[in-house]
Amino acid sequence: MDEKEKQLDKLDVFASTQKVIKKALDKLGYPNEMYELMKEPIRMLTVRIPVRMDDGSTKIFTGFRAQHNDAVGPTKGGVRFHPNVTEKEVKALSIWMSLKAGIVDLPYGGGKGGIICDPRQMSFRELERLSRGYVRAISQIVGPTKDIPAPDAFTNSQIMAWMLDEYSRIREFDSPGFITGKPIVLGGSHGRESATANGVTICIKEAAKKKGLNLEDARVIIQGFGNAGSFLAKFLHDAGALVVGISDAYGALYDPEGLDIEYLLDRRDSFGTVTKLFKETMTNEELLEQECDILVPAASENQITEDNAHQIKASIVVEAANGPTTIEGTNILTERDILLVPDVLASAGGVTVSYFEWVQNNQGYYWTEAEVERKLEAVMIQAFDSTYHLARSRKVDMRLAAYMVGVRKMAEASRFRGWI
Ligand code: GLU
Repeated sequence: MDEKEKQLDKLDVFASTQKVIKKALDKLGYPNEMYELMKEPIRMLTVRIPVRMDDGSTKIFTGFRAQHNDAVGPTKGGVRFHPNVTEKEVKALSIWMSLKAGIVDLPYGGGKGGIICDPRQMSFRELERLSRGYVRAISQIVGPTKDIPAPDAFTNSQIMAWMLDEYSRIREFDSPGFITGKPIVLGGSHGRESATANGVTICIKEAAKKKGLNLEDARVIIQGFGNAGSFLAKFLHDAGALVVGISDAYGALYDPEGLDIEYLLDRRDSFGTVTKLFKETMTNEELLEQECDILVPAASENQITEDNAHQIKASIVVEAANGPTTIEGTNILTERDILLVPDVLASAGGVTVSYFEWVQNNQGYYWTEAEVERKLEAVMIQAFDSTYHLARSRKVDMRLAAYMVGVRKMAEASRFRGWI
């Protein structure tokens, strides 16, 4: 491998996920066959979706659905609409969903979907046609007891509603348990929209306790102002923390005295864009290196790498995004005694409340927001504790510990089924 290839390999989230899965299975004493089973999704569908655009032309979009492992139960995970979606990324994301389900102990395996598109450039009706076309294309392999989609980057409850409607038409019966993250009136759960941020907040509180940090005095930087980042800014601000930095895809804002979070939340658009309103901005890269106590990458992949991990000032890093830190970045943060709460643990609140939504759909009996939040808190604290203690007792970093917790149930289930 030449230097450039080595560099690309380090940023290949699929390859790095496989490496950590291998390490986790080795540590747990599983044979290589188990790794061979888990290193790739068991099923991967690529679809081409023709969409009639508003100007009368037809555009063909490419979409994916990956199902990583269904030994424990149906596969589960979001669908992202993004120009940077690739087959490899969707595969990695499906493995992360399996790990999340294992860590918070849900009866699911991991799945993930994505469409290469830019929803910021598409009209409401074009998005509807794309969402419905995607469901038609993948309908054979999904369903309430097969594979259950949900929102992810640049998808929301409206998109889930179209997908649900299309699926129900194809099957000719109403099936709310086909998809989660729906609007409340269509069987969505209270607390689902804020669930990822809620779970991240619980992890931040637990991590702060371990580090002896008082959240009320803590300075926080949040990279990304989408669904997770914006709810998180609100929750942390309400909890008394000082949010000193935020960013979107176009730039970042930093003020050591604290930002006006209420104003920023009021002015952000539905894609989380807000920095365009300001003259004095910095880059996302610069933001990560500013003074703070807690850093939350809540945007995209490969943000903390060997190039900047030495410059991170925070004592706690909690990953709300999927895959924001490379393996080398993780090693450097761990060596520097920075407490890193990995994505597969920190961002598992979303799929946890999706599970609650599916349970409510299956039983046709709905819970209050307070009930959902109480149950989510119990699940997240339990998951944080088991990962933290495993990291300490086995002297491994939090990411490897989370992978070990995450693969265990799936490996056991695969064994009982006689697959390995
Ligand atoms: N897309 C979210 C995630 O990455 C949620 C998945 C779900 O709710 O199924 O965890």
